[in-house]
Amino acid sequence: MATAAQTILIVEDEMAIVELVSFALKTAGWEVDAVHTTADAWEYLQHKRPHLILLDWMLPDQSGLRLLSRLRGDRNFSTMPVIMLTAKSMEEDKVAGLDQGADDYITKPFSPRELTARIKALIRRKTPEHAEVAMSAGPLSLDPVSCRVSVNEQQIEIGHAEFKLLKFLIAHPERVFSRGQLLDKVWGDHAVLEERTVDVHILRLRKALGTAESLIQTVRSVGYMLSEK
Ligand code: CA
Repeated sequence: MATAAQTILIVEDEMAIVELVSFALKTAGWEVDAVHTTADAWEYLQHKRPHLILLDWMLPDQSGLRLLSRLRGDRNFSTMPVIMLTAKSMEEDKVAGLDQGADDYITKPFSPRELTARIKALIRRKTPEHAEVAMSAGPLSLDPVSCRVSVNEQQIEIGHAEFKLLKFLIAHPERVFSRGQLLDKVWGDHAVLEERTVDVHILRLRKALGTAESLIQTVRSVGYMLSEK
């Protein structure tokens, strides 16, 4: 499955809204794909993995809510960020959407600026490894914009794969990830790699970190985590 990390998928049948939203999101720097039915959305998701889905409630073939519950029931999509778009403004609908696992909810008509702000906030919350803010742990700091890593303010040399791995771990401190999860999250679902690959990159990462290597901890028979403890 191709990972389109910066693509937002719009599932919406009203062309005027698709155009308005596409324009706003492209201006904000995202790639945008649009489909108009839940069936096309499902088909799209078999081939491409967007960063986030904007899902309309009222669609011609099925409600967006049905698609949402199908996504949440599927291991591959259970954590995918989803914002529901809807003309319905009644409180019980909002509750139903959030119950089914929507991450956020925006009522039409909305301003493109509000939508963009909500998307950014959700991405920060759900996938901090994609946020473009510097992250730190103990003596270690990582800047996702310049791709620099430093230990005690000294920039270190680090390989691309190790950088991605560290970026993921530092974005989720104090949480253990299995090798399989790291392959999924760091290398993507399409990666045909063995779990042993993770061990190799962890080894290289520790070596690159030098005095800060103890931040990368092995949790026996589970996996790895970044921890300051
Ligand atoms: Ca609609």
